[in-house]
Amino acid sequence: MSDHKFYANTVRSVAPGQRIVLSSRRHTRPAHPMTARLGVPMARRAFMAGGSASILTAGLPATAKPSATLLVSHPAFAQHNPGPFIPERPAREIAIMEALAAPAFAALVRHEAPLHGALREAILRVHAPEYFDMLNGYASDTPNLPHAFDLDTVLGDRSWDAALLAVSAGLHAVDCVFDKDGGIRNAFCPVRPPGHHAEAARAMGFCFFSNVAIAAKYACAAHGAERVAVIDFDVHHGNGTQSAFWDEKNLFYGSTHELPLFPGTGAVSETGVRNVFNAPLKAGDGTVQFQLAMTERILPALDDFRPDLILISAGFDAHEGDPLAHIRLQEADFTWITMKVMEIADKHCDDRIVSMLEGGYVLKDLAHSASAHVSQLMRV
Ligand SMILES: [Zn+2]
Repeated sequence: MSDHKFYANTVRSVAPGQRIVLSSRRHTRPAHPMTARLGVPMARRAFMAGGSASILTAGLPATAKPSATLLVSHPAFAQHNPGPFIPERPAREIAIMEALAAPAFAALVRHEAPLHGALREAILRVHAPEYFDMLNGYASDTPNLPHAFDLDTVLGDRSWDAALLAVSAGLHAVDCVFDKDGGIRNAFCPVRPPGHHAEAARAMGFCFFSNVAIAAKYACAAHGAERVAVIDFDVHHGNGTQSAFWDEKNLFYGSTHELPLFPGTGAVSETGVRNVFNAPLKAGDGTVQFQLAMTERILPALDDFRPDLILISAGFDAHEGDPLAHIRLQEADFTWITMKVMEIADKHCDDRIVSMLEGGYVLKDLAHSASAHVSQLMRV
């Protein structure tokens, strides 16, 4: 099936007045906004790579002692399938879970994401109710799935459950790190679909719900957090998180990202109410520029903010091998930034960190980078 036929068959218009407008002409556009460097054959080859889904149910060996680091996963995260031409694909989840099944991670506390009781209420702190109901409506209209909101963002027949459970994973992890008797200090949630591009009333950039922004506002509402910070080292700017935080002084957003690149936001001049700290990198930048951006702009501001909780938008697509961007980080850079964020979490908020997966599209690099990140979190 050609790319054109795929979209011609799956995209349909919505009624006038709805906020998300689909165009039946979008299949004529030359490339996905997120995947401008990817040809379809490369995306298809990458989609075919991957391992067995059985690893998703791998549990903690009976003899292992729990650590203070929680892993919140769910088989549904590998069942969200936006189609064969989109690099944000189920094999990503499988690659990460296979890596985290290694003996080095046996001490992780492993929870399957529950469907959180405060889920809808939490989502509606960030997203418009009309948007939630519209997504639900499309998800319920199974004969017409998959449904493409744009060239990157496709709702398949298992996507709604995955999107709700992705949000739930973050809420559950927040509950756990605020439970003083639970022994959990930090958490990693390898969720799909990712979240940081989702706007209040718009799905985009592979994202439907703004997972970390929802978790941040939930921490304030449910656990009395006075200041919550998000550190976003995904190679793309988290436009959705930034807009959700834009005029809220008790929420902090700090991001390194390549610019210019999708979604086009993230300039230094975008500062919200002095709670937004963008440190854009340029194509070809690597470890030196990344560490400078963090140590000179973002981390000092985070320290001054004195967070009660730090969330991480853990995208690994700034890795040098990633086909969606042009930054040249290595696994060691993800270890480094995790360590620096942990130092601030230790100083201000009893180590509370909840990290949620965003991007990263080369399976081997994604698995190694996520492993580096989680290994460091386990050194709490
Ligand atoms: Zn990204």
